[in-house]
Amino acid sequence: MKQLLSNTELFALLQTIQQSKHIVICAHRGPDGDAVGSSLGWADYLTSLGKQVNIVLPNPFPDFLRWLPNSHLIHFYVKHEAAATQIINQADLIFCLDFNSLSRLQEMQTAVARAKADKVIIDHHLDPDRTCAKQVISFPSASSTSELVFRLIHQLGGFDSMTRNGAACIYTGMMTDTGGFTYNSNNPEIYEIISLLLTKEIDKDKIYRNVFNVYSADRMRLTGYVLYEKLHFYARNRASIFTLTREEMKRFNFIRGDAEGLVNMPLQVKGMRLSISLREDTERDVVRVSLRSVDDFPCNKMAEEFFNGGGHLNASGGELPFPLEEAVKTAERAIEAYSEKL
Ligand code: 5GP
Ligand code: MN
Repeated sequence: MKQLLSNTELFALLQTIQQSKHIVICAHRGPDGDAVGSSLGWADYLTSLGKQVNIVLPNPFPDFLRWLPNSHLIHFYVKHEAAATQIINQADLIFCLDFNSLSRLQEMQTAVARAKADKVIIDHHLDPDRTCAKQVISFPSASSTSELVFRLIHQLGGFDSMTRNGAACIYTGMMTDTGGFTYNSNNPEIYEIISLLLTKEIDKDKIYRNVFNVYSADRMRLTGYVLYEKLHFYARNRASIFTLTREEMKRFNFIRGDAEGLVNMPLQVKGMRLSISLREDTERDVVRVSLRSVDDFPCNKMAEEFFNGGGHLNASGGELPFPLEEAVKTAERAIEAYSEKL
């Protein structure tokens, strides 16, 4: 397996870890499988070194990740702001996982920015903000932050003491960020990593079911409703848009995570290259945008240009601070503007 860091970088990281006692790990708002999986996997490693580790996330993760070992120990800033701020203030080292700029922490941004602790970014998004961290471990070519965490642990010599729980969390992050190894997953070394994780006796088939086959009946109906009534194809441009209002989410007893994966489905139509989902946020007055594409269509460029966001080539997101009807118009303009590439 290729070494991720140069000797100098590895030594710097090791020294930073050795000099710290109380470590906080944080990840982006709206934590997904990779954010939570990489955090728990990294915590498993740091704990094996005898460090006191706390994971603090801006807001809760979806229910389908609740089975992840030790996820019940995670703190949520929006739920216990004072306690979370205290943990962040007391840290002497903060790892920022799966995001490239403190703004992705939203309401938790100030607390982390103000903390006296050194920060180290471990991430696979483009253009990390290098001003806010002592060390930036950024590999946009990696499939997931969980993959990076595995490679770091391996290079730091921590693989032998990796627990089955830690391995399961890392596998989950790698699996979710690649849609079950169906996109962004052609690097042969991914499968080397998986075979090493399997030596820890994780049950990858069960992990798949735990994450992907846990729909509620309401969620299944919501899928049917969206595909039948809400999905608009822009066939000339090989793109589609669907919207989801708060009222509709309420009708289908929507819970956090119910929209996950929905945006991938229109790409199952032959020839489709781009899928856009526009969803009213349940907490704030914004429209959450998700973009998915295949082949070389650059979702991240479109997200930056039209949706105040960014992300990866084939999976990006952002948000629009205005009503859904206007968001649809913006999305249609984006499709038109990119028709050449579609
Ligand atoms: P999702 O559609 O699952 O919410 O997000 C897909 C990917 O897009 C995420 O992994 C992340 O890289 C990126 N992304 C989502 N929302 C935002 C956002 O608001 N800003 C930026 N810069 N990237 C985002
Ligand atoms: Mn990720």
